[in-house]
Amino acid sequence: MTVNPSGWRPEAPSNDTDAAPTTFTGNKALMLEEALLFEIGSIDRTGVDLPEPPRVASRLNGLERNRTIGLPGLSEPEAVRHYTRLSRQNYGIDLGFFPLGSCTMKHNPRLNEKMARLPGFADLHPLTPVDGTQGALALIHLVGEWLKTLTGMPGIAMSPKAGAHGELCGLLAIRAAHEAQGDARTTILVPESAHGTNPATAAFAGYAVESIPATAEGRVDLDALKAKLGTHVAGVMITNPNTCGLFERDMIAIADAIHAVGAYLYCDGANFNAIVGSVRPGDLGVDAMHINLHKTFSTPHGGGGPGSGPVVFSEALAPFAPLPFVEQHGDKYVLVEEETVAEEHHEKAFGRMVAFHGQMGMFVRAAAYMMSHGADGLRQVSEDAVLSANYILRSLDDVLEAPFGASGPCMHEALFSDDGMAEGFTTLDIAKGLIDEGFHPMTMYFPLVVHGAMLIEPTETESKAALDQFIGALRSVAERAKAGDPALKAAPIHAPRRRLDETAAARKPVLVYKDPPLASAAE
Ligand SMILES: *Cc1c(COP(=O)(O)O)cnc(C)c1O
Repeated sequence: MTVNPSGWRPEAPSNDTDAAPTTFTGNKALMLEEALLFEIGSIDRTGVDLPEPPRVASRLNGLERNRTIGLPGLSEPEAVRHYTRLSRQNYGIDLGFFPLGSCTMKHNPRLNEKMARLPGFADLHPLTPVDGTQGALALIHLVGEWLKTLTGMPGIAMSPKAGAHGELCGLLAIRAAHEAQGDARTTILVPESAHGTNPATAAFAGYAVESIPATAEGRVDLDALKAKLGTHVAGVMITNPNTCGLFERDMIAIADAIHAVGAYLYCDGANFNAIVGSVRPGDLGVDAMHINLHKTFSTPHGGGGPGSGPVVFSEALAPFAPLPFVEQHGDKYVLVEEETVAEEHHEKAFGRMVAFHGQMGMFVRAAAYMMSHGADGLRQVSEDAVLSANYILRSLDDVLEAPFGASGPCMHEALFSDDGMAEGFTTLDIAKGLIDEGFHPMTMYFPLVVHGAMLIEPTETESKAALDQFIGALRSVAERAKAGDPALKAAPIHAPRRRLDETAAARKPVLVYKDPPLASAAE
């Protein structure tokens, strides 16, 4: 009989009493348990045959290691199985629907991956002289020009490496623009419903943060905003579409009020997927906005890849954009790396965000995505994303409470609250029930302005059949929560792990492993 090589078995979770009887191996049918690498491997085993190293006199002056390094040795099939088993415990966009609101978990087209692996892009070293990187610089420039066209904004910084990094880039440009006028402003205003990164970025950039309330309809309260504006305000960060899934209709009036006191309008553009090809933020008076290439332009994110957060700028802020950036001089591309180059002066650039040029692989993927969609295709992206979200909102608003359902159609995400559930049942129970149904849960408890929020972003890449299956599952779970079905409190019952104490796991992680055994002792 073969068992797990180390004889390791998972400990039964404490609330596992009503589950199926545990198996000898701890495996659940073909879903295999997997121990840590250190627990399976043994230090005197190896997957390769190496000759004994020749004996040479040590030149380390007594500093040589005097005990084993303790790394686990595995054979090739053991190593392959270890990672394959772990990968099957992962949930990702290639496995199923991933309705995580505000995250735009859309399909990453394989064409993009193919392009990013072209050796001319993938094998470039960032220190290659510009004469040898003209194609890559041309691509960075092209993506930048298209982002400027799509947003209607004249300046761009391609180098920020994530949405939050882009926010910092935008605020540092705002700070530089005020300082250039000898105007030291202290405060950034942020709506209550903002993504957590907004106030965090403002604080990190050294500003005091004040919050602006939302109206009962879920939009920024324009009068409350005006009451807080003054010459101490450096800028206002608005998310549009906002995190309640609604378009900020007063955006132009908001921008006018902000500009009237000499402040700048920062737009959190992470939700650009809802408006790309339909609305140009530059037309709404935005001064700076980051774009998450890893959301709107489909480059893999979460566990699947790094982010990329280029920032577009208005005329007023463009001169303060950070280095480095690509410029086209005739038929040649140059990388502007310093405040002054021969022909042009960039002495206003606020500095640098990254060591090199940014996330090249993401630029290639975004370029492939834009080229394969074209202008009409990108517009269709946002129209279909909005259509999918409204389909979910209207298919479920009889069983789940939609707090802003009366505020008109939503944009790219549908928002529900925990109103109307049986005593003791919460949003968490619904999320756990969805895991049993085979879905990654939606975003929970965000935005904070809605009690027990459930934020669902289907994106444009799900088929109607997939949406219908999700709607059916969520309806069933919601009905159980309303009826107070006690079995739902125990969910998930079909997952490899049951209901864990996630807070304790995050706050007091128990990160231990047993030393790898000697193979001779284990056998
Ligand atoms: C995702 C997101 C961000 C942050 O982007 P990261 O790339 O994760 O740093 C900021 N704001 C909103 C609204 C987002 O959805």
